[in-house]
Amino acid sequence: MAQLSPLLKQATPVQAARGEGVYIYDTEDRRHLDFTAGIGVTSTGHCHPKVVKAAQDQVATLIHGQYTTVMHQPLLKLADKLGEVLPDGIDSVFFTNSGSEAVEASVRLARQATGRPLIMAFDGGFHGRTMGAAALTTSGAKIRAGIGPMMGGVTFAPYPFAYRYGWTEEQTVAFCLAELDRQLASTAPASDVAAFIIEPVLGEGGYVRTPAAFLQGLRERADRHGILLIVDEVQTGFGRTGKFWGHQHAEGVTPDVIITAKGLASGFPLSAIAAPKAIMEKAWPGSQGGTYGGNAVACAAALATLDVVLTEGLVENARVQGEKLVAGVRDAAQGIAAIGDVRGIGLMVGVEFVTADGKPDGATAAKVHAAAAEQGLLLLTCGVYGNVVRMIPALIVTSEQVDEGLALWTKALNNAL
Ligand code: PLP
Repeated sequence: MAQLSPLLKQATPVQAARGEGVYIYDTEDRRHLDFTAGIGVTSTGHCHPKVVKAAQDQVATLIHGQYTTVMHQPLLKLADKLGEVLPDGIDSVFFTNSGSEAVEASVRLARQATGRPLIMAFDGGFHGRTMGAAALTTSGAKIRAGIGPMMGGVTFAPYPFAYRYGWTEEQTVAFCLAELDRQLASTAPASDVAAFIIEPVLGEGGYVRTPAAFLQGLRERADRHGILLIVDEVQTGFGRTGKFWGHQHAEGVTPDVIITAKGLASGFPLSAIAAPKAIMEKAWPGSQGGTYGGNAVACAAALATLDVVLTEGLVENARVQGEKLVAGVRDAAQGIAAIGDVRGIGLMVGVEFVTADGKPDGATAAKVHAAAAEQGLLLLTCGVYGNVVRMIPALIVTSEQVDEGLALWTKALNNAL
């Protein structure tokens, strides 16, 4: 019998037997309230009947038809349907399997489209673990440790995390944009930069909302210098933040390339990049993608997911329940010195734990996370130092389930602190 690799280190002892809506049932049939959604993936809840039916029907019809040989209906229909939710002008889509692959596809596309070598990413960002995506990632030392040399042609600029700078958002944005301009005029000459890549909300980096003024500043500089603006919506897309795309919180900003994955197919491995045709056609067939990209079952599940998200009002539900959740988490944080900050945008809620002198406190976050799991509330940690506990329930979460989560969270805080 093969042993599990030590790489498969799980944060809770839960052995999942089945999932239903926002709940996971373990092998003893104990119910856990899942506020992780498989790291923001099962946005329609576990095993939504419409997604299950679409996938089952597709399995019985055509499981795999590779797009370099035969095109298939689920992929064509999905591309068509995505047109309903993509911003005007972003009219071309390409499919891969995971967030990291889509990130790499966007980097290749940016270099192919501009003929420039440099990609500018931001401190604390997370874009995945494949070698190219890891090269853009700085949100955790362990992701890059021991795997170098990294892919070249990547440069980093400061990210406007106002809470950590200890300044107002306005001051932080002004500082970061000035530093960006300094880099574009010196160490990363603008004429060499193919793209900026940024998350509308830092995900793994600690659930930090990218200020609208910063995204607007990037858009303006991208236009000025012929640089592409890539938004990594792997975690923030498909309604998660209370708007369909996370970048839509920044008025007037239309990206050049959108990366989507996670919530796209309710748990089936699927990702995509979307861009205006004029950009996409600068890449050439055979230079991108892989054997399983745009798998038929995954595309069918994505079509059903999109239908559920739109017809069941899940984007609005994410906004409403997100506001309730963050307000409840703020109330529960009253008088707890170990909680330095509570942040939320839609159903992405983060609680930052700090030491008495305000430093990131990963140990306390881990304690609270474990205490929540003991109560039957599944959560995740994130942040550069693992000091943020995050809540990402499925977008179908009800008001009663938010109350249930808040009650369990309060008990966890009492037990852990
Ligand atoms: N980009 C962002 C913003 C992510 O949050 C993630 C995963 O968490 C990725 C990319 C990588 O996605 P995957 O794990 O599917 O490769």
